[in-house]
Amino acid sequence: MIEFEYHHPASMDELFGLLDRYGEDARVMAGGTALVIQMKQRLAQPGHVLGLRRIGGLNSIESTAEGVRIGALCTQRQIENSPVVVRELPLIADAFRKVATPRIRNMATIGGGLVNGDPSQDPPPALISLGASAVMTSKNGERVVPVEDLFIDYYETDVQPGEVLTGVLVPHAPAGSGAVYLKFLPRTADDYATVSVAAVVSREADGSCKDVRIVLGSVGVTAIRATQAEDALRGKPLTDENIRAAAALVKDVVDPLEDFRGSAEYKTDMAEVFTRRAVEQAIAFIPAGN
Ligand SMILES: Cc1cc2nc3c(=O)[nH]c(=O)nc-3n(C[C@H](O)[C@H](O)[C@H](O)COP(=O)(O)OP(=O)(O)OC[C@H]3O[C@@H](n4cnc5c(N)ncnc54)[C@H](O)[C@@H]3O)c2cc1C
Repeated sequence: MIEFEYHHPASMDELFGLLDRYGEDARVMAGGTALVIQMKQRLAQPGHVLGLRRIGGLNSIESTAEGVRIGALCTQRQIENSPVVVRELPLIADAFRKVATPRIRNMATIGGGLVNGDPSQDPPPALISLGASAVMTSKNGERVVPVEDLFIDYYETDVQPGEVLTGVLVPHAPAGSGAVYLKFLPRTADDYATVSVAAVVSREADGSCKDVRIVLGSVGVTAIRATQAEDALRGKPLTDENIRAAAALVKDVVDPLEDFRGSAEYKTDMAEVFTRRAVEQAIAFIPAGN
């Protein structure tokens, strides 16, 4: 029997009061898809669970001049189906659509997924590739953290005591760029990725690479930005040879865990293959005339 007290604060002030009162013995809960399993497995044993669902204003999706602001309590299903996200951030809609099954996506939230810090999750590579930031709120105010800096280690994120993730700011992809999120699923369609890669590429008028962002998932203790591969491609002609040479560099930065999805060596090889494919497909998605 797992004993805990469930609270359902109706406002942020009430939530901060509970976080103050119960300190490390409290955990907030959004969709509960990760926390409940961790509690059943005794990996988390909070005496107080603070449900976020009664707090208003945390599940809206708003278009802004720079991008889209997504409330922390938006479900993955809500995000993949949002007309604003589909129109303005198709890469993000696609990455959320690739998570597990509709049953999970109907419950799991963007905020819960990010704070959970599982390196195999689909949204982080896509969010990092667009330069998204997380808004952390405490009784002292707001702190904005690039999603790229949010992940510290395996299931460890930069969330300070008393802080709650309240929203995610996602910039639009650069004008004239092409973007793609690839999830390698050799087992079943609803599995976690064996390897995943998000790539965003833009091109100069002479056909050379203007800018590129490459982010991998499932191949280390956090999502990994492949800056060496990006640097190798930026400014160079987007030829097969240059793309292959850049993709080969990811083998030096990934450090996959061996599991039933494959050996570390196999995943390292697939990281190279899927990086190459992601860059090639992102280039193919560059709108005509760019
Ligand atoms: C069967 C199954 C299959 C899955 N497959 C995939 C997959 O293919 N791809 C994928 O990407 N993911 C997958 N997932 C993981 C899923 O995406 C995460 O469980 C989910 O994103 C967590 O969100 P949640 O809202 O349920 O978080 P919760 O379980 O409510 O919380 C998770 C953690 O975040 C904390 N937290 C929650 N919200 C906040 C907040 N706003 N501020 C601060 N802390 C917060 C909680 O205290 C807890 O520590 C799968 C999960 C399951 C159960």
